[in-house]
Amino acid sequence: LVENNARRIWHPMAHPAELHDDPPRVVMKGEGAYVTDLEGRTVLDAVGGLWNVNLGYSCDPIKKAIADQLDALPYYSGFRGTSTGPSIELAWELTEWFSHEGMVRAFFTSGGSDSVETALRLARQYWKIRGQADRTKFLALKKGYHGTHFGGASVNGNANFRRNYEPLLPGVFHIPAPNAYRNPFDEPDPERLATLCVKALEDEITFQGADTIAAFIMEPVLGAGGVIVPHESFMPRVREICDRHEILLIADEVVTGFGRTGSWSGSRGVGVRPDMMTIAKAITSGYFPLGATMIGERMAEAFEADRTSFGAIGHGYTYSGHPVGCAAGIAALAETKRLRLDENASARGRELASLLEDLKARHDVVGDVRYKGLMAAVELVSDRTTKKAADKALMKVVADAAYDAGVMLRVSGSNIILSPPLILTTEQVRELADGLGAGLAAA
Ligand code: PMP
Repeated sequence: LVENNARRIWHPMAHPAELHDDPPRVVMKGEGAYVTDLEGRTVLDAVGGLWNVNLGYSCDPIKKAIADQLDALPYYSGFRGTSTGPSIELAWELTEWFSHEGMVRAFFTSGGSDSVETALRLARQYWKIRGQADRTKFLALKKGYHGTHFGGASVNGNANFRRNYEPLLPGVFHIPAPNAYRNPFDEPDPERLATLCVKALEDEITFQGADTIAAFIMEPVLGAGGVIVPHESFMPRVREICDRHEILLIADEVVTGFGRTGSWSGSRGVGVRPDMMTIAKAITSGYFPLGATMIGERMAEAFEADRTSFGAIGHGYTYSGHPVGCAAGIAALAETKRLRLDENASARGRELASLLEDLKARHDVVGDVRYKGLMAAVELVSDRTTKKAADKALMKVVADAAYDAGVMLRVSGSNIILSPPLILTTEQVRELADGLGAGLAAA
């Protein structure tokens, strides 16, 4: 296994040449919030799989739902004209779950990148139906992450994920993310910074011409870009501007959906009703690949009132509404609700935040800590005054030492990303911070 790990798998988000010197860890088992590797070492998973295993690794109701559905019907297409029981039930559940956000339909996909691609395409199509086919451009945030399809990669705000694949979609423009630690305005105050970023958005709309813009896409809390938590006034003001210029607002909730930030969605946490929401990851807690693009009333009405050829959705996947995935989703959402994981994320998140602030006070290598609910980033620097980002070697020292101390961390650039299962206990929050502390001490 160790040998073939680098030789036979072409690993995502990795440099193929480097894999030979530093092969990815092999995980063999999981239980609760812990995973066990090939050598038999068990560690606390501070990453929650990949921001998704909210219910941990031994959720019996999901396993049972999957097994029962495999017996009843392992697959049937949810494509044009046929449906299955679980997909209808899950669509009902999701539209109820996100009714606060104004979502009335679920378009099923196989994961987050598909959900984003679907949202971008439906935004374009919406404007064709409305007779404004010139509205084709997209606006997004620098540092935003929206998956790996060509559309999603185009709206990604990190050039590292775009540059090897250009030319991408034309007509995509980025505005600064409201990151109080690093921003082009040198503005450390989150509220004033939100105002400056909103102004940048308005300026971009004026410059481009509102009637050329299809949609603005943003994560309510930016995840992969380093857990950037906008001031609570930011997204509501973005909503106002989008309304004023009739621009669609897409909330990419692939990470923030289902309780991660302490609310059932990032949008709900700041009282915003987007036009579409993209969801995936925790929808099945990682037990089956599944996603959805949730559609709000304004869009649903326009599509459903249309009788021209523009209204037909020429977009869908073989696994749209996969019955096993939907059965897993129904069980995962029921458990998520029963255990009130939003409240646990909020309470355990407060404990984690205070421990992260302690670590920042004790270790000069920590430049900034950012958090919301149970998602957090610890940004490492080699110099606090110049904010020079920590290099790859230093990040590896931290991650390896933390692993030796019993905690699996995730490195993203100069950020340590934390997104543990939402079933975490107070003791496990401390265990996580202790492991991270061991990593920082080694650095
Ligand atoms: N959007 C966001 C906000 C994400 O964080 C991710 C994945 N990390 C995606 C989209 C893409 O999801 P997937 O990897 O399931 O395709």
